[in-house]
Amino acid sequence: ERSKLKRLRSTRSATLDGEMVSLQANIELPGDAAQVRAVEADGVGLFRTEFLFMNRDVLPGEEEQFEAYRAVAKAMNGKPVTIRTLDIGSDKPLKSGGPRIETNPALGLRAIRYSLSEPQMFLTQLRALLRASHYGKVQILVPMLAHAHEIDATLSALALAKAQLRAEKVKFDEHIAVGGMIEIPAAALSLGVFIKRLQFLSIGTNDLIQYTLAIDRTDEAVAHLYNPLHPAVLRLIAQTIVTGAKTGVPVSVCGEMAGDARYTRLLLGMGLRSFSMHPTQILEVKQEVLRADSKELTPKVMRLLRYDEADKISEAVERL
Ligand code: PEP
Ligand code: MG
Repeated sequence: ERSKLKRLRSTRSATLDGEMVSLQANIELPGDAAQVRAVEADGVGLFRTEFLFMNRDVLPGEEEQFEAYRAVAKAMNGKPVTIRTLDIGSDKPLKSGGPRIETNPALGLRAIRYSLSEPQMFLTQLRALLRASHYGKVQILVPMLAHAHEIDATLSALALAKAQLRAEKVKFDEHIAVGGMIEIPAAALSLGVFIKRLQFLSIGTNDLIQYTLAIDRTDEAVAHLYNPLHPAVLRLIAQTIVTGAKTGVPVSVCGEMAGDARYTRLLLGMGLRSFSMHPTQILEVKQEVLRADSKELTPKVMRLLRYDEADKISEAVERL
């Protein structure tokens, strides 16, 4: 079975009815790019940069970050590399420093909220990202957005970083795309704000499920309630995919759901054409894509989205 899957590495990922599906990889450190190339993924859909910052006393400066981002941009040889700005806090703490311990870190000063509260640190990361964009197809992804003003503040910080580099005559991609994670229910329910300001969206199902169902994703005691097939979760995901398609803003899913082959047909039926997952999951998901007929799946999925009970949805997903 494994060697059979391996043979799919260079097979182009399209459904039976000819819909092209982009299968990209999630990485945590530059060294992971080798594995991404080995499975011939279509790009890096999520580079979680916080892993460069975790488990160390002194945070990486601009040069070190630049080298790390450039290494991945170069390794992917022109394929898209989506690099997420720091998503520190909650389940991804710094060893020292970082946001102070709040009463509820998942709802506290984390991710983009933390970056915007540390303008110098944020500017350093944005400069490093921009400099790396000269060496490949780099895109910037912003985590945990909920408010229009957070997007505006992020874009202002990026404009400042660009102006500095221009003045220093340092090369970067002037047209670098900026996208936002849809992982807070409020974001999925106010997509207009995102569509207007950003070039692409990426659904983070891990946090979207956590915040929609009020289940701490790291708490074993409530793990049995963490259900990706809860109708509320599926409606938020479907609405984001459909709105993206209507407005011409690319949408991908980069949470664990995207790499779970049990959900590939469900997501294809919602209209998803871009998945990002751990590199080891790519070929299994590709196999599902190759067997799927999207035209057949769409009406079935639209019907099951109307069910109110997760159990009923779960049965319908198994029958897809
Ligand atoms: C997510 O929340 O689904 C996601 C992709 O980001 P992370 O798991 O790093 O929070
Ligand atoms: Mg997340």
